[in-house]
Amino acid sequence: MTSYHALTEAEAIAYARSIPNLFAPDSELSSREIGDGNLNLVFHISEPSTGRSIILKQALPYAKVVGESWPLTLDRARIESEALMIHESLCSDLVPHVWAFEKELALTVMQDLSDHVIMRKGLMERNRYPLFAEHISRFLANALFYTSDLGRNQQEKKESVKQFINPELCKITEDLIFDDPYRNADTNNVPPAIMDAVEHIWNDKELHLEVAILRNSFLTNAQALLHGDLHTGSIFIKQDSTKVIDPEFAFYGPMGFDIGAVFANLLLNFAAQEGWSADVHSRADYRSYLLATVKDIWTRFEGEFRSLWNRYGVDRMSKTDGYQDWYIQQVLRDTFGYAGCKMVRRVHGLAQVADINQIEDESAKERAQRISLQLGTSLIKHHRRAVTIDEMLELADKAI
Ligand code: ADP
Ligand code: MG
Ligand code: MG
Ligand code: MG
Repeated sequence: MTSYHALTEAEAIAYARSIPNLFAPDSELSSREIGDGNLNLVFHISEPSTGRSIILKQALPYAKVVGESWPLTLDRARIESEALMIHESLCSDLVPHVWAFEKELALTVMQDLSDHVIMRKGLMERNRYPLFAEHISRFLANALFYTSDLGRNQQEKKESVKQFINPELCKITEDLIFDDPYRNADTNNVPPAIMDAVEHIWNDKELHLEVAILRNSFLTNAQALLHGDLHTGSIFIKQDSTKVIDPEFAFYGPMGFDIGAVFANLLLNFAAQEGWSADVHSRADYRSYLLATVKDIWTRFEGEFRSLWNRYGVDRMSKTDGYQDWYIQQVLRDTFGYAGCKMVRRVHGLAQVADINQIEDESAKERAQRISLQLGTSLIKHHRRAVTIDEMLELADKAI
């Protein structure tokens, strides 16, 4: 078809019109580009006469971060659309429907979720989502179980591993999560007020060993197909619905990396509460809600994962006595470690989070940063000894 170029709004409309059975042939369509413009274009195309709308997401051939620009493979659009389709086959209510993928243009046509809000924003407004724990734990259990050697034939799984080799996006993670925050790298963006705490991290050899161990597993443990970027900015939410978007970092890695990403982002919001409520009681109450959510997610995840394993496990050796308990313990330990890594990088690394950075009061912001570093490093250091999820809650309580 057309050779690659970044679409204009007029071209996005023309493309949307060419999709069969979506819009009336001669109706007015309007387009708005709603992406944040760092890596991808996101066009919202709507037909005012019927209220119908869709999203076109197009990968750009470069990433723009802090004024710098570096080339980034368009193949990530294929990875994203194929991961979305696998997720849809496993839990169709928890991801946007994909109507089409156009390889040459690195363009995905998907369901418009504008009636949801990005969860990071929802948490910053201190909303509560009673179904979130059930939804995200079901997403994690199904997406991770069925893409692992527990839920399907090893040969098929290896074919799928080939489909999701994603070296360029993995390198972003390897650098920005597992390396740069632990040294004085020029990609870092260190808040001057916490320079002492950051320098402590740069010099903490015990911490570096634990991060190197977690990085090793990220590099080598092709345990299951991961989303790869499962922070609260990749989750659309409303009271009765949760949708996981943006799996362009998908690859086969350790399960705890995705579960840890969810926990890290709940805990970053936990750390930031002084910035979002002046009232001591409502702050404590919201913090309890966040911790209860962490526990609820893990408990439900473990229950659902064990039940899938017991009912649909395909592997004879995986039924060996004691193996399931050992396996889940390892996943929990990884979850602690990756949650910690994902917290730390958001404080002084390259891409930070609005939960902290949008706090106006400087001392409340500094407190959020220090809590996040304290909790993040203690999760990393504890990870190989973790036994129950309650220890995560205890470490969080200790950090405030
Ligand atoms: P990126 O990979 O560039 O972060 P995302 O897939 O996260 O791209 O999308 C960026 C933003 O575009 C989202 O935060 C959201 O505001 C909007 N967006 C993305 N997908 C959809 C969708 N299916 N429905 C509505 N808005 C969307
Ligand atoms: Mg973005
Ligand atoms: Mg995104
Ligand atoms: Mg993305």
